[in-house]
Amino acid sequence: MDVPQTLRRWLRQAEAITVLSGAGISTDSGIPDFRGPQGVWTKDPTAERLSTIGAYISDPEVRRRAWRSRRDHPAWNAEPNAAHAALVDLERSGRLRALVTQNIDGLHQRAGSVNVLEIHGTMREAECLVCGLRTPMPEVLARVDAGEEDPPCPECGGIQKSATISFGQPLRQDVLDAAVDAARSCDLFLAVGTSLTVQPAAGLCLEAVEHGARLVIVNAQPTPYDAVADAVLREPIGVTLPRLVALSLKTEP
Ligand SMILES: [Zn+2]
Repeated sequence: MDVPQTLRRWLRQAEAITVLSGAGISTDSGIPDFRGPQGVWTKDPTAERLSTIGAYISDPEVRRRAWRSRRDHPAWNAEPNAAHAALVDLERSGRLRALVTQNIDGLHQRAGSVNVLEIHGTMREAECLVCGLRTPMPEVLARVDAGEEDPPCPECGGIQKSATISFGQPLRQDVLDAAVDAARSCDLFLAVGTSLTVQPAAGLCLEAVEHGARLVIVNAQPTPYDAVADAVLREPIGVTLPRLVALSLKTEP
């Protein structure tokens, strides 16, 4: 792939890079995205209800379906890919300001990234909606496998859900504050594999631009922020991101 000279220079000169990653970074690991051509919600719009908090609380059938969906999630057997690995290299170089992710699959951490801001939470834990108890998800899924279709909280009997942010749920303020801070204090903001259609995650791009950062978008489909980006790359993420990181680490001419 051809990387424009201006982009090479920005990558080399950047001292604080903030990355926002979305579902597109994990599709090479076999995890389908939501809104792409093969997306989970594109192919089955009713599946979006499983991620809507009102439906989840009021409809036991939605909860039963959600637990089966969690148990069968491809992330449990997925391995991180070259793009996840590239971001580990970037973090170890000391020039990653923050890695903000919309993904719940935990693959950044599996790859070796340490400081990950999971603004939409994680599917690797369950959380009680009543008392807040957190339990490793495999423990709860073992109960599902053993025949409990909607396993209640072991402490208070309340409804449990994956520790993700469903539609209608507020983001965790401390995580969001840290992400906004990272967007405002970087000199290069790299949005990778996100359709940039979900707020407030997408708005981090504007926070970065308004505070003087270059905005680089790597995504297969157009995004609403392409017009304000300094560079937009449509090449496959698994190839593009390692290349961009190598250029920023000056390990490639
Ligand atoms: Zn509870």
